[in-house]
Parts: sequence; C-alpha cells; structure tokens
Amino acid sequence: HRGRPGGEHLRLEDIFIAVKTTRKHHRSRLELLLQTWISRARAQTFIFTDWEDQELRLKAGDHMINTNCSAVHTRQALCCKMSVEYDKFLESGQKWFCHVDDDNYVNPRTLLRLLSAFSHSQDVYVGRPSLDHPIEAADHGQSDGSTTVKFWFATGGAGFCISRGLALKMSPWASLGNFISTAERVRLPDDCTIGYIIEGLLEVKLRHSLLFHSHLENLQRLQGESVLQQVTLSYGDPENKHNVVSVGGVFGLQQDPTRFKSVHCLLYPDTIWCPAKKTA
Ligand code: UDP
Ligand code: MN
Repeated sequence: HRGRPGGEHLRLEDIFIAVKTTRKHHRSRLELLLQTWISRARAQTFIFTDWEDQELRLKAGDHMINTNCSAVHTRQALCCKMSVEYDKFLESGQKWFCHVDDDNYVNPRTLLRLLSAFSHSQDVYVGRPSLDHPIEAADHGQSDGSTTVKFWFATGGAGFCISRGLALKMSPWASLGNFISTAERVRLPDDCTIGYIIEGLLEVKLRHSLLFHSHLENLQRLQGESVLQQVTLSYGDPENKHNVVSVGGVFGLQQDPTRFKSVHCLLYPDTIWCPAKKTA
C-alpha cells in the first residue's frame, strides 16, 4: 500500500530472529552475542537451547526457550530445535523468520534493508547456498525408495530467512513433529531439510545471497567497510581461530578474538563499553 514497488515498510519488530544454541555454549558463545548484536535487537530475538540455565534465564527472560530437545549433535536433536524455532515463529505472528547459529553476528540494519526489498506475503527463502551446486538426495518416503530429489539449500551456519507467506505453506512438513519425520525421509541435517521442503516439495527457489557468512568460508577475505555491509558474520572454531573477518582500529585480536566486539563498536559507537571516539 505504500513505498517502493514490490517492497513494504518493514520494521525490525517484524523480524523474528531464532538463535540456536546448546548448553555448553551459553557462556563461551552466547554471552558475546548478548553483549553485542542481540542488545540491539532484543525484542525480536529468541534463544533456543536445551538446558534450563538460571543465569541465562535472568538475562534473556522469556526470550530464552528451552526446547527440551536433547543436547547432542545428532540429526534428530538439531531438527527438534529447528521445528521448535519454526513453531514459535508461526505463533509469534511476525513477518519474517530468520535462523542463525550462536557463532553468527547479525547486523540488524542490513538484515532489515535486505528483507525490505521483498514482501513477507510472497514466497521468499534467502540465504547463502551451502554448495556451488544443488544437493541430490534419496527420498525414502517414496514406496520404492529410489526417487532422488535435487535442490539448493542455505547453510544454517550462515543464517537464512523465510517469509511468513512461505512458512505457512511449509506447515504440513515443518510444523509440530512433522519436521523430524521430513528430515528422516531424506536423512539430511536441519538446514538441508528446510531446502528440501522449500525447493524440493514446494518448488520455491532459494534466493542466493552472499551477504550471509559462515566459518566454512575464508572470512579473512572480508575486510574494512564491506564487513559492516554484510547481514551475518561468523568466526572459526578454536582450531581455526585465524578465520575471522578483518577489522582493525578498535580492539586487538587478544581482546576480541572473534572480531565481533570490534564490528559492533564500528556499527554502534555509542555502546558504553566501546572505546571513546578520538576527537581530532
Ligand atoms: N549445536 C546444538 N547442539 C549440539 C551442538 C551444536 O544445538 O549438540 C548448535 C550450536 O550451538 C550452533 C550450531 O549447532 O548454533 C552449530 O554448531 P557448531 O558451530 O559447534 O558446529 P558447526 O556445524 O558450525 O561446525
Ligand atoms: Mn559453527
């Protein structure tokens, strides 16, 4: 009804951001996110975990969701979390569902700008393709078990977003317990299963966006100003701790090994713990 053709007046409050985490990362990873980007998107961010942590509960209140999914890295446990994220999004009534991992930095401004180009009532699935070709999987739900399906999917570890319009259509395969059975049918992880439902079953195409980043890429190639223009960032695990984005001038690597604090201070210099801007 207003504004750009094909676009809509979108506010940050219209976006539901689900952060997937687990018991052992509450202190090591989530703390950093709460201090940085989550502090600028508090009302729309929900933390999905597998443990009733009193300390986290105090900080996040009802934005911490204990999924009661098991705290193991299995397909079933991860799909259990994704299905709870999906269900909570549908319940929320918000326009966009975005999923990220607990090693992602989300830039709320660029996320808003990206999604503003679309309408939430259209079928939109946007993220970074995991592979440079579609994945091929056997569909074990077919009677002869011989059917294969080919589809693109967005890397969960880089984050992705789905419009409400599309999320509603996914319901027969994604709501309540259905997501876990769908994942079993293709025997694939949660992010691939999302791609299978959207591209494989609903025949809606993934919109490839290179603004989402996981530590599967070489993050050092992201440098300077362009770091601040991305939608999500990530960092390498301890065995790959050099795999971080290149931002200088705020904190050193010692103080800020993930670079998230430096990025945050460049985006939000008025944050109390950021170094005061030098006056010329
Ligand atoms: N994770 C989880 N349960 C587990 C292990 C990991 O929910 O048992 C979450 C973790 O918090 C993160 C995501 O799954 O949000 C990916 O985990 P991680 O970054 O450790 O591994 P990756 O797959 O990126 O190498
Ligand atoms: Mn990761």
